Amino acid sequence: MAPRANLILLGPPGVGKGTQAELVVQRLAVPHISTGDMLREARAAGTELGQLAGQYMDAGELVPDEVIVRVALERLQADDCAEGFLLDGFPRTLPQAEALEQALGQIGQEVTAAIDLEADREEIVARLSERRVCRDCQRIFSLRRGEIKEGDRCPECGGELYQRRDDQPEVIRERLRVYEELTAPLIAFYRDRGKLLTIRSDGPPDEVHKLVWASIEEALGSR
Ligand code: ADP
Ligand code: ZN
Repeated sequence: MAPRANLILLGPPGVGKGTQAELVVQRLAVPHISTGDMLREARAAGTELGQLAGQYMDAGELVPDEVIVRVALERLQADDCAEGFLLDGFPRTLPQAEALEQALGQIGQEVTAAIDLEADREEIVARLSERRVCRDCQRIFSLRRGEIKEGDRCPECGGELYQRRDDQPEVIRERLRVYEELTAPLIAFYRDRGKLLTIRSDGPPDEVHKLVWASIEEALGSR
């Protein structure tokens, strides 16, 4: 069987994981799996999971590990993950990373590479507070980069653009604090396993994508 591409995107909220993930899956036959998107969909559908997750999300806190681990591992068993996956927003804590490692180990797999996107904190706060998301296609646009103007509709599908509740300044600060405390330790976790790739993510998306793609090709080539 051909080796799978089991990829993870790491990095703080607002660093561009979602944008980069979308660009990567245009070139690689694996699904983009965003646990944040899955939870937002569960909320929109009003499921039990969505109701539970909502309280944590609006406060900028993490959903409990046992909940998100169950959701993520179940998703990874779907048929579309036969060639691998690109995870965005999972794992986000050490227990989540350990659960993923164990689940992959049980099927004779491991993480191929963990791509850590880095940008300065001021850049991140500015990006988050000026980003808008399409209610229909979930694409992300930036007021700051001039991709849209206040009051515009989605340039891709004409859907309504909105600001996520957790993109308000106080919640952004809390998300960054949670990131430093609980998620940043994953950098060492994957570095220790020889899986870490670090990429500066402060340029325009297509420039960052070139760097991301080059490092993915290298990681896949050396499997
Ligand atoms: P961000 O822009 O902060 O990366 P996401 O869209 O990935 O946002 O996630 C939004 C929210 O969903 C998080 O703040 C958290 O409450 C919840 N969430 C998403 N993924 C996870 C996870 N792996 N563990 C715990 N909570 C999660
Ligand atoms: Zn749209």
